[in-house]
Amino acid sequence: MVAQVIPVEDFDLVIFGGTGDLATRKILPGLYRRMLSGQMPKTSRIIAAARSDYDAEAFRKHVHDGLIEHVDKALLKKGDVDTFLGQLDYLQLDIFTEDGWKALGKMLRADVIRAFYFSVGPSLFGEIARRLVQFKLADRDARIVVEKPFGRDLETAKALNAELAECFAEHQVYRIDHYLGKETVQNLMAIRFGNALFEPLWNAQHVDHVQITASESLGVGGRGSYYDKSGAMRDMVQNHMMQLLCLTAMEPPSKFEANAVRDEKLKIIKALSPVAPNDVVRGQYSATGDKGSYLQDSENPESNTECFVAMKVEIANWRWAGTPFYLRTGKRLRNRLTEIAVVFKDPPHSIFDDTGTHLRGNALIIRLQPDEGITMRMTIKDPGPGGMRLREVPLDMTFAEALEGEDIDLPDAYERLIMDVIRGNQTLFMRGDEVEAAWDWIDPIINQWVEKGQKPIQYDSGGSGPDDALMIMHRDGRRWREIAQ
Ligand code: NAD
Repeated sequence: MVAQVIPVEDFDLVIFGGTGDLATRKILPGLYRRMLSGQMPKTSRIIAAARSDYDAEAFRKHVHDGLIEHVDKALLKKGDVDTFLGQLDYLQLDIFTEDGWKALGKMLRADVIRAFYFSVGPSLFGEIARRLVQFKLADRDARIVVEKPFGRDLETAKALNAELAECFAEHQVYRIDHYLGKETVQNLMAIRFGNALFEPLWNAQHVDHVQITASESLGVGGRGSYYDKSGAMRDMVQNHMMQLLCLTAMEPPSKFEANAVRDEKLKIIKALSPVAPNDVVRGQYSATGDKGSYLQDSENPESNTECFVAMKVEIANWRWAGTPFYLRTGKRLRNRLTEIAVVFKDPPHSIFDDTGTHLRGNALIIRLQPDEGITMRMTIKDPGPGGMRLREVPLDMTFAEALEGEDIDLPDAYERLIMDVIRGNQTLFMRGDEVEAAWDWIDPIINQWVEKGQKPIQYDSGGSGPDDALMIMHRDGRRWREIAQ
Protein backbone atom coordinates (compact mmCIF):
# COMPACT_ATOMS: atom_id res chain seq x y z
CA MET A 1 0.00 0.00 0.00
CA VAL A 2 1.31 3.44 -0.86
CA ALA A 3 0.50 6.21 1.59
CA GLN A 4 -1.60 8.92 0.03
CA VAL A 5 0.13 12.29 0.07
CA ILE A 6 -2.08 15.25 -0.60
CA PRO A 7 -0.05 18.31 -1.58
CA VAL A 8 -0.74 21.45 0.40
CA GLU A 9 -1.53 24.73 -1.35
CA ASP A 10 1.31 26.85 -2.64
CA PHE A 11 2.90 28.97 0.09
CA ASP A 12 5.59 31.46 1.06
CA LEU A 13 7.13 30.62 4.42
CA VAL A 14 9.33 33.19 6.13
CA ILE A 15 11.53 31.77 8.88
CA PHE A 16 12.73 34.47 11.27
CA GLY A 17 15.87 33.00 12.79
CA GLY A 18 16.28 30.80 9.71
CA THR A 19 20.02 30.35 10.29
CA GLY A 20 19.60 29.16 13.89
CA ASP A 21 19.87 25.71 15.41
CA LEU A 22 16.19 24.83 15.26
CA ALA A 23 15.81 25.89 11.63
CA THR A 24 18.99 24.08 10.59
CA ARG A 25 18.34 20.83 12.47
CA LYS A 26 14.58 20.48 12.28
CA ILE A 27 12.60 22.95 10.20
CA LEU A 28 14.58 22.97 6.95
CA PRO A 29 15.39 19.22 6.86
CA GLY A 30 11.72 18.60 7.61
CA LEU A 31 10.62 20.81 4.73
CA TYR A 32 13.08 19.01 2.46
CA ARG A 33 11.47 15.68 3.32
CA ARG A 34 7.99 17.13 2.68
CA MET A 35 9.17 18.32 -0.72
CA LEU A 36 10.46 14.83 -1.49
CA SER A 37 7.15 13.28 -0.45
CA GLY A 38 5.33 15.57 -2.86
CA GLN A 39 3.42 17.29 -0.05
CA MET A 40 5.25 20.61 -0.36
CA PRO A 41 4.72 22.10 -3.82
CA LYS A 42 7.91 22.71 -5.77
CA THR A 43 6.68 26.25 -6.43
CA SER A 44 6.62 27.12 -2.72
CA ARG A 45 9.24 29.47 -1.35
CA ILE A 46 11.08 29.50 1.94
CA ILE A 47 12.68 32.78 2.92
CA ALA A 48 15.02 32.88 5.88
CA ALA A 49 15.27 36.25 7.64
CA ALA A 50 18.04 36.53 10.21
CA ARG A 51 20.89 38.67 11.39
CA SER A 52 23.63 36.45 9.97
CA ASP A 53 25.71 38.11 7.27
CA TYR A 54 24.67 35.80 4.41
CA ASP A 55 23.38 36.26 0.91
CA ALA A 56 21.08 33.72 -0.75
CA GLU A 57 24.00 31.62 -2.03
CA ALA A 58 25.74 31.50 1.37
CA PHE A 59 22.44 30.55 3.01
CA ARG A 60 21.88 27.75 0.50
CA LYS A 61 25.35 26.44 1.27
CA HIS A 62 24.52 26.56 4.99
CA VAL A 63 21.28 24.62 4.40
CA HIS A 64 23.05 22.16 2.11
CA ASP A 65 25.50 21.36 4.94
CA GLY A 66 22.59 21.07 7.37
CA LEU A 67 20.80 18.59 5.09
CA ILE A 68 23.89 16.43 4.85
CA GLU A 69 24.11 16.33 8.61
CA HIS A 70 20.43 15.89 9.45
CA VAL A 71 18.80 13.97 6.58
CA ASP A 72 19.19 10.30 5.77
CA LYS A 73 21.87 9.96 3.08
CA ALA A 74 19.63 7.80 0.91
CA LEU A 75 17.25 10.73 0.54
CA LEU A 76 19.88 13.18 -0.65
CA LYS A 77 19.86 12.83 -4.44
CA LYS A 78 21.59 15.76 -6.10
CA GLY A 79 18.63 16.70 -8.28
CA ASP A 80 16.27 16.77 -5.28
CA VAL A 81 18.67 18.78 -3.13
CA ASP A 82 19.16 21.31 -5.94
CA THR A 83 15.40 21.65 -6.42
CA PHE A 84 14.96 22.32 -2.71
CA LEU A 85 17.85 24.79 -2.49
CA GLY A 86 16.31 26.58 -5.47
CA GLN A 87 13.19 27.18 -3.40
CA LEU A 88 15.17 29.03 -0.71
CA ASP A 89 15.95 32.70 -0.39
CA TYR A 90 17.61 34.81 2.27
CA LEU A 91 17.19 38.26 3.71
CA GLN A 92 19.56 39.78 6.23
CA LEU A 93 17.41 41.65 8.68
CA ASP A 94 17.57 42.84 12.27
CA ILE A 95 14.13 42.57 13.77
CA PHE A 96 14.69 45.71 15.86
CA THR A 97 15.46 48.02 12.93
CA GLU A 98 13.19 49.32 10.17
CA ASP A 99 15.51 48.16 7.41
CA GLY A 100 14.74 45.13 5.36
CA TRP A 101 11.00 44.83 5.96
CA LYS A 102 10.04 46.53 2.70
CA ALA A 103 12.48 44.25 0.89
CA LEU A 104 10.79 41.29 2.57
CA GLY A 105 7.45 42.54 1.27
CA LYS A 106 8.84 42.55 -2.27
CA MET A 107 10.04 38.96 -1.91
CA LEU A 108 6.55 37.72 -0.98
CA ARG A 109 4.04 36.73 -3.63
CA ALA A 110 0.40 37.76 -3.72
CA ASP A 111 -2.30 35.07 -3.78
CA VAL A 112 -0.38 32.31 -2.02
CA ILE A 113 -0.57 31.35 1.64
CA ARG A 114 1.80 33.34 3.84
CA ALA A 115 3.25 31.81 6.98
CA PHE A 116 5.79 33.39 9.33
CA TYR A 117 7.76 31.08 11.60
CA PHE A 118 9.18 32.89 14.65
CA SER A 119 12.21 30.65 15.24
CA VAL A 120 13.76 33.16 17.62
CA GLY A 121 13.59 33.82 21.35
CA PRO A 122 10.18 34.90 22.74
CA SER A 123 11.45 38.40 23.54
CA LEU A 124 11.31 39.03 19.77
CA PHE A 125 7.78 37.72 19.15
CA GLY A 126 5.97 41.00 19.83
CA GLU A 127 8.39 43.03 17.76
CA ILE A 128 8.09 40.74 14.73
CA ALA A 129 4.30 40.74 14.98
CA ARG A 130 4.19 44.55 15.07
CA ARG A 131 6.57 44.91 12.12
CA LEU A 132 4.54 42.46 10.04
CA VAL A 133 1.48 44.62 10.60
CA GLN A 134 3.35 47.94 10.24
CA PHE A 135 4.73 46.92 6.85
CA LYS A 136 1.45 45.26 5.82
CA LEU A 137 3.12 41.92 5.22
CA ALA A 138 0.41 39.81 6.78
CA ASP A 139 -3.12 39.58 5.39
CA ARG A 140 -6.06 38.17 7.35
CA ASP A 141 -5.22 34.69 6.21
CA ALA A 142 -1.52 34.84 7.16
CA ARG A 143 -0.35 32.48 9.88
CA ILE A 144 2.34 32.91 12.51
CA VAL A 145 4.12 30.04 14.20
CA VAL A 146 5.68 30.58 17.62
CA GLU A 147 8.13 28.37 19.46
CA LYS A 148 8.43 27.39 23.09
CA PRO A 149 9.09 28.67 25.68
CA PHE A 150 5.77 30.47 25.68
CA GLY A 151 6.39 32.51 28.80
CA ARG A 152 8.04 31.48 32.07
CA ASP A 153 4.96 32.01 34.22
CA LEU A 154 1.35 33.11 33.91
CA GLU A 155 2.19 36.79 33.82
CA THR A 156 4.74 36.55 31.00
CA ALA A 157 2.54 34.13 29.02
CA LYS A 158 -0.37 36.58 29.31
CA ALA A 159 1.86 39.42 28.16
CA LEU A 160 3.02 37.39 25.14
CA ASN A 161 -0.54 36.43 24.25
CA ALA A 162 -1.58 40.08 24.53
CA GLU A 163 1.28 41.23 22.28
CA LEU A 164 0.37 38.71 19.61
CA ALA A 165 -3.36 39.44 19.96
CA GLU A 166 -2.74 43.13 19.20
CA CYS A 167 -1.63 42.10 15.71
CA PHE A 168 -3.14 38.70 14.96
CA ALA A 169 -6.40 36.86 15.58
CA GLU A 170 -6.20 33.61 17.55
CA HIS A 171 -7.02 31.56 14.42
CA GLN A 172 -3.75 32.88 12.90
CA VAL A 173 -1.51 31.90 15.84
CA TYR A 174 0.12 28.45 15.85
CA ARG A 175 1.88 27.73 19.18
CA ILE A 176 4.11 24.74 18.55
CA ASP A 177 4.45 21.87 20.98
CA HIS A 178 6.29 19.35 18.86
CA TYR A 179 5.12 16.46 21.05
CA LEU A 180 1.69 16.95 19.51
CA GLY A 181 3.14 16.31 16.06
CA LYS A 182 4.27 12.80 16.97
CA GLU A 183 2.53 9.96 15.21
CA THR A 184 1.82 8.14 18.46
CA VAL A 185 0.14 11.12 20.05
CA GLN A 186 -2.32 11.25 17.23
CA ASN A 187 -2.63 7.50 17.45
CA LEU A 188 -3.63 7.89 21.07
CA MET A 189 -6.67 9.75 19.83
CA ALA A 190 -7.26 7.18 17.07
CA ILE A 191 -7.09 4.37 19.63
CA ARG A 192 -9.36 6.09 22.11
CA PHE A 193 -11.96 7.42 19.72
CA GLY A 194 -11.64 5.15 16.69
CA ASN A 195 -12.27 1.95 18.69
CA ALA A 196 -15.26 1.20 20.86
CA LEU A 197 -13.12 -1.16 22.95
CA PHE A 198 -11.25 1.21 25.24
CA GLU A 199 -13.53 4.13 25.94
CA PRO A 200 -15.92 2.25 28.28
CA LEU A 201 -12.89 1.25 30.37
CA TRP A 202 -11.16 4.64 30.22
CA ASN A 203 -12.14 5.94 33.64
CA ALA A 204 -11.51 5.68 37.35
CA GLN A 205 -13.65 2.57 37.66
CA HIS A 206 -11.27 0.53 35.51
CA VAL A 207 -8.00 2.46 35.33
CA ASP A 208 -5.83 2.13 38.42
CA HIS A 209 -3.46 4.92 37.46
CA VAL A 210 -1.63 6.51 34.55
CA GLN A 211 2.11 7.12 34.43
CA ILE A 212 3.75 9.46 31.96
CA THR A 213 7.52 9.33 31.65
CA ALA A 214 9.84 11.49 29.55
CA SER A 215 13.40 10.53 30.40
CA GLU A 216 16.64 11.55 28.77
CA SER A 217 19.92 9.71 29.05
CA LEU A 218 21.89 12.87 28.31
CA GLY A 219 22.60 15.70 30.72
CA VAL A 220 22.10 19.38 29.93
CA GLY A 221 25.54 19.46 28.30
CA GLY A 222 26.53 22.66 26.54
CA ARG A 223 23.09 24.21 27.05
CA GLY A 224 23.52 24.10 30.84
CA SER A 225 23.53 27.78 31.65
CA TYR A 226 20.55 28.38 29.33
CA TYR A 227 18.63 25.41 30.77
CA ASP A 228 19.31 26.59 34.30
CA LYS A 229 17.00 29.56 33.73
CA SER A 230 14.04 27.27 33.15
CA GLY A 231 14.31 23.74 34.60
CA ALA A 232 12.29 20.57 34.06
CA MET A 233 8.99 21.97 35.33
CA ARG A 234 8.97 24.83 32.84
CA ASP A 235 10.81 23.07 30.02
CA MET A 236 8.87 19.80 30.04
CA VAL A 237 5.94 19.61 32.44
CA GLN A 238 4.14 22.86 31.65
CA ASN A 239 3.97 22.06 27.95
CA HIS A 240 4.82 18.57 26.68
CA MET A 241 3.76 16.47 29.66
CA MET A 242 0.67 18.55 30.25
CA GLN A 243 -0.36 18.00 26.64
CA LEU A 244 0.11 14.25 26.94
CA LEU A 245 -1.90 14.23 30.15
CA CYS A 246 -4.70 16.22 28.51
CA LEU A 247 -4.96 13.97 25.48
CA THR A 248 -5.03 10.88 27.71
CA ALA A 249 -7.62 12.29 30.09
CA MET A 250 -9.89 14.49 27.99
CA GLU A 251 -13.51 13.72 27.18
CA PRO A 252 -14.25 12.72 23.59
CA PRO A 253 -14.53 15.94 21.59
CA SER A 254 -17.63 16.11 19.39
CA LYS A 255 -15.38 16.40 16.34
CA PHE A 256 -11.69 16.03 15.58
CA GLU A 257 -11.54 19.75 15.01
CA ALA A 258 -9.24 22.37 16.51
CA ASN A 259 -11.50 24.16 18.95
CA ALA A 260 -13.48 21.08 19.93
CA VAL A 261 -10.25 19.25 20.89
CA ARG A 262 -8.74 22.28 22.60
CA ASP A 263 -11.91 22.96 24.60
CA GLU A 264 -11.70 19.45 26.03
CA LYS A 265 -7.99 19.77 26.85
CA LEU A 266 -8.63 23.07 28.60
CA LYS A 267 -11.32 21.47 30.79
CA ILE A 268 -8.75 18.93 32.00
CA ILE A 269 -6.16 21.58 32.87
CA LYS A 270 -8.81 23.50 34.78
CA ALA A 271 -9.80 20.34 36.65
CA LEU A 272 -6.27 19.66 37.96
CA SER A 273 -6.13 19.79 41.77
CA PRO A 274 -3.42 21.84 43.45
CA VAL A 275 -0.38 19.64 44.08
CA ALA A 276 0.54 18.93 47.71
CA PRO A 277 4.23 19.68 48.50
CA ASN A 278 5.03 16.04 49.32
CA ASP A 279 3.55 14.92 46.00
CA VAL A 280 6.39 16.57 44.02
CA VAL A 281 10.06 15.60 44.03
CA ARG A 282 12.79 17.59 42.31
CA GLY A 283 16.29 16.43 41.53
CA GLN A 284 19.67 17.22 40.01
CA TYR A 285 22.02 14.54 38.69
CA SER A 286 25.37 14.09 40.36
CA ALA A 287 28.72 13.55 38.65
CA THR A 288 29.70 10.16 37.29
CA GLY A 289 32.95 8.99 35.71
CA ASP A 290 34.18 11.77 33.50
CA LYS A 291 30.75 13.40 33.30
CA GLY A 292 30.06 16.44 35.44
CA SER A 293 27.14 16.98 37.79
CA TYR A 294 24.18 19.19 36.98
CA LEU A 295 25.72 21.92 39.14
CA GLN A 296 28.89 21.76 37.05
CA ASP A 297 27.06 21.54 33.71
CA SER A 298 24.86 24.50 34.58
CA GLU A 299 27.94 26.48 35.60
CA ASN A 300 25.98 27.50 38.67
CA PRO A 301 27.19 25.75 41.84
CA GLU A 302 24.36 27.36 43.84
CA SER A 303 21.64 26.41 41.35
CA ASN A 304 18.22 25.51 42.75
CA THR A 305 16.91 24.57 39.31
CA GLU A 306 15.64 21.02 38.88
CA CYS A 307 16.51 18.80 35.93
CA PHE A 308 14.25 16.05 37.28
CA VAL A 309 10.65 16.23 38.48
CA ALA A 310 8.29 13.49 39.58
CA MET A 311 4.80 14.28 40.73
CA LYS A 312 1.39 12.90 41.51
CA VAL A 313 -1.46 14.73 39.82
CA GLU A 314 -5.18 14.41 40.54
CA ILE A 315 -7.90 15.35 38.09
CA ALA A 316 -10.98 16.44 39.96
CA ASN A 317 -13.79 15.34 37.67
CA TRP A 318 -16.22 12.44 37.47
CA ARG A 319 -14.16 10.41 35.04
CA TRP A 320 -10.89 10.49 36.94
CA ALA A 321 -11.54 11.18 40.64
CA GLY A 322 -9.45 8.64 42.57
CA THR A 323 -7.20 7.66 39.64
CA PRO A 324 -3.87 9.48 39.95
CA PHE A 325 -1.68 10.50 37.06
CA TYR A 326 2.02 10.23 37.90
CA LEU A 327 4.42 12.34 35.83
CA ARG A 328 8.17 11.98 35.73
CA THR A 329 10.80 13.65 33.58
CA GLY A 330 14.52 14.08 33.96
CA LYS A 331 17.98 14.26 32.48
CA ARG A 332 20.84 11.73 32.67
CA LEU A 333 18.50 8.84 33.52
CA ARG A 334 18.91 5.21 32.49
CA ASN A 335 17.54 5.56 28.95
CA ARG A 336 15.88 7.92 26.57
CA LEU A 337 12.23 7.05 26.74
CA THR A 338 8.89 8.81 26.43
CA GLU A 339 5.76 6.82 27.16
CA ILE A 340 2.26 7.00 28.54
CA ALA A 341 1.23 3.89 30.48
CA VAL A 342 -2.46 3.44 31.25
CA VAL A 343 -2.48 0.79 33.97
CA PHE A 344 -5.81 -0.97 34.41
CA LYS A 345 -7.04 -2.43 37.69
CA ASP A 346 -6.14 -5.97 38.69
CA PRO A 347 -8.75 -8.63 37.91
CA PRO A 348 -11.10 -8.67 40.91
CA HIS A 349 -10.73 -12.41 41.57
CA SER A 350 -8.43 -15.15 40.35
CA ILE A 351 -9.94 -18.46 39.34
CA PHE A 352 -6.42 -19.87 38.93
CA ASP A 353 -5.70 -20.26 42.62
CA ASP A 354 -2.96 -22.89 42.36
CA THR A 355 -0.77 -20.99 39.88
CA GLY A 356 0.87 -18.78 42.45
CA THR A 357 0.75 -15.96 39.91
CA HIS A 358 -0.54 -12.60 41.04
CA LEU A 359 -2.80 -11.44 38.25
CA ARG A 360 -1.81 -7.93 37.38
CA GLY A 361 -4.03 -5.52 35.53
CA ASN A 362 -3.52 -4.93 31.83
CA ALA A 363 -1.49 -1.94 30.82
CA LEU A 364 -1.69 -0.03 27.58
CA ILE A 365 1.64 1.59 26.83
CA ILE A 366 1.84 4.32 24.24
CA ARG A 367 5.50 4.85 23.34
CA LEU A 368 6.55 8.14 21.78
CA GLN A 369 10.26 7.47 21.64
CA PRO A 370 12.27 5.55 20.76
CA ASP A 371 10.40 3.31 18.26
CA GLU A 372 6.97 4.90 18.30
CA GLY A 373 4.40 2.23 18.99
CA ILE A 374 1.79 0.73 21.26
CA THR A 375 2.01 -2.25 23.59
CA MET A 376 -0.69 -3.98 25.60
CA ARG A 377 0.38 -6.00 28.63
CA MET A 378 -1.72 -9.17 28.70
CA THR A 379 -1.83 -12.29 30.81
CA ILE A 380 -1.87 -15.55 28.86
CA LYS A 381 -1.33 -19.21 29.57
CA ASP A 382 2.30 -20.22 29.51
CA PRO A 383 2.41 -22.38 26.35
CA GLY A 384 3.00 -26.12 26.55
CA PRO A 385 2.19 -28.86 29.04
CA GLY A 386 2.64 -28.35 32.74
CA GLY A 387 -0.78 -27.24 33.79
CA MET A 388 -2.36 -23.85 33.94
CA ARG A 389 0.62 -21.58 34.43
CA LEU A 390 0.16 -17.95 33.57
CA ARG A 391 2.52 -15.33 32.31
CA GLU A 392 2.50 -11.76 31.12
CA VAL A 393 3.30 -11.00 27.51
CA PRO A 394 3.34 -7.76 25.56
CA LEU A 395 0.99 -7.51 22.62
CA ASP A 396 3.29 -5.29 20.67
CA MET A 397 2.81 -2.98 17.74
CA THR A 398 5.88 -1.02 16.81
CA PHE A 399 4.71 1.11 13.91
CA ALA A 400 7.85 0.62 11.87
CA GLU A 401 7.40 -3.17 12.09
CA ALA A 402 3.63 -3.24 11.78
CA LEU A 403 3.79 -1.14 8.64
CA GLU A 404 6.81 -2.92 7.19
CA GLY A 405 6.48 -3.45 3.47
CA GLU A 406 4.07 -0.54 3.14
CA ASP A 407 5.46 2.53 1.50
CA ILE A 408 4.72 4.78 4.42
CA ASP A 409 7.03 7.49 5.53
CA LEU A 410 6.36 8.71 9.04
CA PRO A 411 7.03 12.44 9.03
CA ASP A 412 8.94 13.95 11.89
CA ALA A 413 6.83 16.00 14.29
CA TYR A 414 8.03 19.35 12.96
CA GLU A 415 7.36 18.60 9.32
CA ARG A 416 3.87 17.34 10.04
CA LEU A 417 3.09 20.44 12.10
CA ILE A 418 4.40 22.85 9.47
CA MET A 419 2.18 21.20 6.85
CA ASP A 420 -0.76 21.63 9.27
CA VAL A 421 0.06 25.35 9.46
CA ILE A 422 -0.18 25.60 5.69
CA ARG A 423 -3.42 23.61 5.71
CA GLY A 424 -4.78 25.97 8.35
CA ASN A 425 -5.39 23.15 10.83
CA GLN A 426 -4.80 24.22 14.45
CA THR A 427 -5.86 20.95 16.10
CA LEU A 428 -2.32 20.02 17.13
CA PHE A 429 -1.36 23.50 18.35
CA MET A 430 -1.93 25.03 21.77
CA ARG A 431 -4.51 27.75 22.15
CA GLY A 432 -3.64 30.84 24.19
CA ASP A 433 -6.07 30.03 27.02
CA GLU A 434 -4.65 26.50 27.34
CA VAL A 435 -1.13 27.83 27.79
CA GLU A 436 -2.29 30.33 30.40
CA ALA A 437 -4.30 27.72 32.30
CA ALA A 438 -1.25 25.44 32.39
CA TRP A 439 0.89 28.22 33.88
CA ASP A 440 -1.86 29.08 36.33
CA TRP A 441 -1.62 25.53 37.69
CA ILE A 442 2.19 25.31 37.57
CA ASP A 443 3.03 28.73 39.07
CA PRO A 444 2.03 27.93 42.69
CA ILE A 445 4.18 24.78 42.62
CA ILE A 446 7.25 26.70 41.47
CA ASN A 447 6.54 29.64 43.78
CA GLN A 448 6.43 27.32 46.75
CA TRP A 449 9.94 26.03 45.94
CA VAL A 450 11.22 29.55 45.54
CA GLU A 451 9.63 30.77 48.78
CA LYS A 452 11.10 27.86 50.74
CA GLY A 453 14.47 28.11 48.95
CA GLN A 454 14.06 24.38 48.42
CA LYS A 455 17.09 22.54 47.03
CA PRO A 456 16.61 19.72 44.53
CA ILE A 457 17.78 16.27 45.68
CA GLN A 458 20.99 14.90 44.13
CA TYR A 459 20.53 11.60 42.26
CA ASP A 460 22.88 9.12 40.62
CA SER A 461 23.33 9.43 36.88
CA GLY A 462 22.09 6.49 34.83
CA GLY A 463 19.35 5.46 37.23
CA SER A 464 15.70 6.40 37.63
CA GLY A 465 16.02 9.57 39.65
CA PRO A 466 15.95 10.23 43.42
CA ASP A 467 14.60 7.54 45.77
CA ASP A 468 12.03 10.04 47.01
CA ALA A 469 10.49 9.91 43.54
CA LEU A 470 10.01 6.15 43.96
CA MET A 471 8.30 6.85 47.26
CA ILE A 472 5.60 8.96 45.60
CA MET A 473 4.32 5.72 44.10
CA HIS A 474 5.35 3.25 46.81
CA ARG A 475 3.24 5.15 49.33
CA ASP A 476 0.24 4.38 47.15
CA GLY A 477 1.21 0.71 46.77
CA ARG A 478 2.31 1.23 43.18
CA ARG A 479 5.60 1.36 41.33
CA TRP A 480 7.07 3.18 38.39
CA ARG A 481 7.71 1.22 35.24
CA GLU A 482 11.33 0.50 34.43
CA ILE A 483 13.00 3.16 32.32
CA ALA A 484 13.95 0.45 29.84
CA GLN A 485 14.13 0.25 26.07
P1 NAD B 1 19.62 30.11 17.82
O1 NAD B 1 20.24 31.03 18.80
O2 NAD B 1 20.40 28.97 17.29
O3 NAD B 1 19.15 30.97 16.54
C1 NAD B 1 18.55 32.21 16.67
C2 NAD B 1 18.26 32.79 15.30
O4 NAD B 1 17.61 34.04 15.50
C3 NAD B 1 19.48 33.07 14.44
O5 NAD B 1 19.15 32.81 13.09
C4 NAD B 1 19.70 34.58 14.60
O6 NAD B 1 20.29 35.19 13.47
C5 NAD B 1 18.27 35.04 14.74
N1 NAD B 1 18.15 36.31 15.46
C6 NAD B 1 18.43 36.57 16.77
N2 NAD B 1 18.19 37.87 17.04
C7 NAD B 1 17.77 38.44 15.89
C8 NAD B 1 17.38 39.76 15.52
N3 NAD B 1 17.38 40.78 16.39
N4 NAD B 1 17.00 39.98 14.24
C9 NAD B 1 16.99 38.97 13.34
N5 NAD B 1 17.35 37.71 13.63
C10 NAD B 1 17.73 37.43 14.89
O7 NAD B 1 18.24 29.63 18.47
P2 NAD B 1 17.44 28.28 18.17
O8 NAD B 1 18.01 27.19 18.99
O9 NAD B 1 17.30 28.07 16.71
O10 NAD B 1 16.01 28.59 18.82
C11 NAD B 1 15.09 29.47 18.25
C12 NAD B 1 13.81 29.45 19.11
O11 NAD B 1 13.27 28.15 19.11
C13 NAD B 1 14.05 29.80 20.58
O12 NAD B 1 12.91 30.46 21.08
C14 NAD B 1 14.17 28.45 21.25
O13 NAD B 1 13.78 28.49 22.60
C15 NAD B 1 13.15 27.67 20.44
N6 NAD B 1 13.39 26.22 20.43
C16 NAD B 1 14.57 25.71 19.99
C17 NAD B 1 14.75 24.34 19.97
C18 NAD B 1 16.04 23.75 19.43
O14 NAD B 1 16.11 22.52 19.38
N7 NAD B 1 17.01 24.53 19.06
C19 NAD B 1 13.75 23.48 20.42
C20 NAD B 1 12.53 24.03 20.86
C21 NAD B 1 12.37 25.40 20.85
